[in-house]
Amino acid sequence: MFHEYLGIVPKGDLILLQMLGEKLNKRSFLHVNSTREGGGVAEILQRMIPILSGLGIAARWEVIEGDARFFDITKKVHNALQGFPETITPEMWDYHYEINRTNAKKLSLEADAVLIHDPQPAPLIEFRKSGVWIWRCHIDISSPQQTVSEHLCTYCKKYNAAVFSVPRFAQAMGIDEFIVHPSIDPLSFKNRELKTEEVQETLNKFQIPSDRPMILQVSRFDRFKDPIGVIKAYRTVKKYNDCILVLAGSPATDDPESETILNEVREYAGKDPDIFILLLPPFSDKDINALQRSATVVLQKSLKEGFGLTVSEAMWKGKPVIGGAVGGIPLQIIHGMTGFLVHSVEGAAFRIRQFLNDPDMSERMGKTAKEYVRKNFLITRQIRDYLLIWYALENRGESVFEL
Ligand code: UDP
Repeated sequence: MFHEYLGIVPKGDLILLQMLGEKLNKRSFLHVNSTREGGGVAEILQRMIPILSGLGIAARWEVIEGDARFFDITKKVHNALQGFPETITPEMWDYHYEINRTNAKKLSLEADAVLIHDPQPAPLIEFRKSGVWIWRCHIDISSPQQTVSEHLCTYCKKYNAAVFSVPRFAQAMGIDEFIVHPSIDPLSFKNRELKTEEVQETLNKFQIPSDRPMILQVSRFDRFKDPIGVIKAYRTVKKYNDCILVLAGSPATDDPESETILNEVREYAGKDPDIFILLLPPFSDKDINALQRSATVVLQKSLKEGFGLTVSEAMWKGKPVIGGAVGGIPLQIIHGMTGFLVHSVEGAAFRIRQFLNDPDMSERMGKTAKEYVRKNFLITRQIRDYLLIWYALENRGESVFEL
């Protein structure tokens, strides 16, 4: 399996992975999250589990189940952690715990290392049986609603360690904390090279014209992704440059708000024949790949963002990307080098026009962007980091870094 990555990812990562695979051979590594499809966490896990298995590690992925009330609560918790005002009552927290208790009875939580992703399954730590337990936070908790983050922390501080995507998300939790940037798989259907005919097939399927530049944003329909702001920026650009806008998204099973947001977006777009709102079924990887490759400019105009895998996905395809200067986006977009960071609709419109009017600059930045992703945001590096953390937690001894 590894040979396929040779020549694509940094060789040093492959050497380290091979060594860690030997050290952790046949040991068990369990990942738990709350959805098998939709969003960045599921995206990474789908690719990571087979690679871990290929390394000789007994990797498993479990998904907790919940009802509408549970996911309504966890979406509110998610929003509050990203700084949006929400009220989480004691009864809601109790229900969050209860659903996790039910899941703990059904799931096999025994493993040498357990990585629990995000707040939804965080209470599972109360049912720990064995192994090293790590809480992995993928969301932007740079300015959370304090009461909500404190309550969640009552669980998180019971883990052996916490992992954040971006340094400024780390909190003083009294446990070991690590920074691991998310990543994309260059060999997945979403990111592999496509033939021109394959790209055209997708455009035909959605009846998207290729006679004008395409502005694209691929995202769940979520207020923090600012789809309305994207339409506003497009409308400003459209006064000067003829172009089309594609907003592509699909629902995540753990996101009950997406339908409301989708309706708002449709209403706001009105009858503009040059705005294409695509509601994609889960696992539309090849179509997303094709859309990203067809785009002239890719936007990720988020207002809050854990990391923003879509940014690396587009950069890997050599595209000029414009991203909101939030969360993990500035890790990927080095302003003026690998894309542009923006703080407003006006800023986004200005940068879109700059790219549309200067194809040479777009190409130059796109090339730099691809190499930046190669060095920093490919999946082999992320697996290396996770395995190193597991290995370090088991082997570092108690007193090396008593800080
Ligand atoms: N994605 C997808 N279909 C969609 C919308 C998004 O497959 O309709 C993918 C997207 O390509 C990316 C991931 O979902 O791989 C989104 O990850 P990101 O970190 O950008 O945002 P999140 O949804 O985790 O907040």
